[in-house]
Amino acid sequence: MRPQKQADVQFTDNHIHIDPLNGDGIAAVKKFERVGGKYIFLVNKTTMDCKISPDTCECFERIFDYTIGLSGEINERTGVRSFPVIGIHPAEFVYMCERSSIGRAGEIARRAVDAAGKRVMEDRAVAIGEVGRPHYPVSGEILAACNGLLEYVFATASDIGCPVQMHTESFTERNFLEIKEMAVKAGLDPRKIIKHYSPPLIKAAGSTGIWPSLIASKENIIKAAGEGNRFLMESDYIDDRRRPGAVVGPKSIARVCMGLLDAGIFDEDDLLKVHKDNVEEVYDIELD
Ligand SMILES: [Zn+2]
Repeated sequence: MRPQKQADVQFTDNHIHIDPLNGDGIAAVKKFERVGGKYIFLVNKTTMDCKISPDTCECFERIFDYTIGLSGEINERTGVRSFPVIGIHPAEFVYMCERSSIGRAGEIARRAVDAAGKRVMEDRAVAIGEVGRPHYPVSGEILAACNGLLEYVFATASDIGCPVQMHTESFTERNFLEIKEMAVKAGLDPRKIIKHYSPPLIKAAGSTGIWPSLIASKENIIKAAGEGNRFLMESDYIDDRRRPGAVVGPKSIARVCMGLLDAGIFDEDDLLKVHKDNVEEVYDIELD
């Protein structure tokens, strides 16, 4: 029997940016809603996108609070339920290191991580992210600073008991093991780590406990489905008119999932696992 489109499955976008200043804002969320989208994990944009410079911890607190406010507005103005995820993007941290000094950047960044953690403790956000390492080459010193900051994030998340969304260079099986070791050392359960923009290495990720979050491209999800259904899905939509087509759009998750359902690659149980059970498990929340 052909499944009824948009009837039973409510989609989750595990990593999306909404940017009313440079993009479509709430209208983009409504696009997601119209195709059956129900939950989003709203990741803050950078200080640069918000046209402030990352000179102090307070600059980041402004971005975090802006994102938390935007998330509330999404909850009020759409049928989508939004959960804020706040942190320092590694590209932003690299920029800070280059602009001032690694020591000073690290100091500000750690204070910003504390500020993010505080908001998670107050239930104003659900996770720290995106944090990690840049996807382009940087000096050994800066890379070491990124790893040092990541250890600090893991220790903070361990104290709070919250998940971490990671941004990294392109990731291999070895990297999953490396990050697992780093997490264990910092006292954080690897099952609290989400690898954003993950390759479809579902088994390798699963063996470390780390959750892979996959971009909603057909090819990617077909590969993933061949290894299991322990993963999350994301658009990594950046909502920026200056960079159209930089990533997949807000409707992509629904489109890809319905296509795979029709093709018999996914069944409804798989979709429920990816868009509800897995999400509830990693974030320790309850979805309707
Ligand atoms: Zn992102």
